[in-house]
Amino acid sequence: MLLAFLCGIIQIGRSHVKPVVSVGWVLLSDVVDAQLLQKYESAISKLRSILEENFSQFTWELPFVRRWRYPPHGALDPLELLEAGLQEKTKNGWDYSIVLVSNELRPRYRISTIGVPSSALEVAVLSSSELNNDGIDEKIAALALHLLGHLWGLSHSEDGPMVPPEDYKTLTLCNFTDGQKELIEQRLVEASDARLEERQAKWGHISFYWSTFWTDPKGILRDVHDYSPWRLPLKMAKMTAATAVSMIFVLMGSESWELGAHFSPLVLLIGTLLAVLGSTSFIFAGQNLGQISREVGYREQLARTKIVVFTTLLYGMFFLWLLYMIFVIGMGILFPREILDNWLGGRLSFSELLHFASFAGILGLLAGAVGGNLEEEDEIKAELFYDEET
Ligand SMILES: [Zn+2]
Repeated sequence: MLLAFLCGIIQIGRSHVKPVVSVGWVLLSDVVDAQLLQKYESAISKLRSILEENFSQFTWELPFVRRWRYPPHGALDPLELLEAGLQEKTKNGWDYSIVLVSNELRPRYRISTIGVPSSALEVAVLSSSELNNDGIDEKIAALALHLLGHLWGLSHSEDGPMVPPEDYKTLTLCNFTDGQKELIEQRLVEASDARLEERQAKWGHISFYWSTFWTDPKGILRDVHDYSPWRLPLKMAKMTAATAVSMIFVLMGSESWELGAHFSPLVLLIGTLLAVLGSTSFIFAGQNLGQISREVGYREQLARTKIVVFTTLLYGMFFLWLLYMIFVIGMGILFPREILDNWLGGRLSFSELLHFASFAGILGLLAGAVGGNLEEEDEIKAELFYDEET
């Protein structure tokens, strides 16, 4: 009886404990202006108020730390700041991190940018350099809310905080719409769950990555899909060019047609799988995509990011192979039939054309893997980690 009563009390107690969501702020500019620092603190408290108002079912923690890393002038590379933010996030065990600088940000794709969210890293970079007029604290808070919206998987909309802040002067704090709140709530529930490393102290390498994938397979595939991996071959120009060059040589040789058309389907299937996996691993390792943070032991969020990036690249390489398959089949249909028949010493059937196309695709992928490592390392990282330049 007494035991049941005590259990009841514990249950009631538990139901009142709100899950904690932490959004850590890191100031990386060496700001000494006391007034600006006070505005930063005020911005954080404004953000806390609106988060508490919109999502009262969570306890919001917004710690603010200062690191004197950059002098407060000169443009900074957001990629470097994102990596620093990730470092702080994993070290302090925050769910999300916002890197604040008073410097300008160096844009990659746009003329200028004041923020870069990265949902893959769950970190955003925010620059206050363009917001130096009245109400800077509210503008910083509004921009932070927009960036957080991206980290929580929202895209732009007509109203609420997800309106693209094209005009910095009009940045104002507003509430999320009901639909947006629902989506964010789901994300926050996932984020506030105990992380794998908190549940068990000792892990093996493979078992940790395996368990990470199975904690949220749907979410991981959704993130991969959000990257539109099919567009990767177009974005990685050097890789695609290397593949195209190899393709011309393969297409123009009678021996390669003869060899490719007579491979067994099983060998081609295994060859394709190995080529896709091999070229992905080669680029992933060569471009240091796995090294997004200094070693901090096993961290579920970090492992998840690596899985998402690897899978995105894997899809990308598969689409590259598919693209070349289609291209070669097209060329095979357009080539004068007599020449191809002559090269093969008999009539070319459609299945032989398919065999040749997948053989050419494998060679193209291998060439592409070498070309992929000629890409600028930061270029691929920015492509994979930036959600946008705000
Ligand atoms: Zn945006």
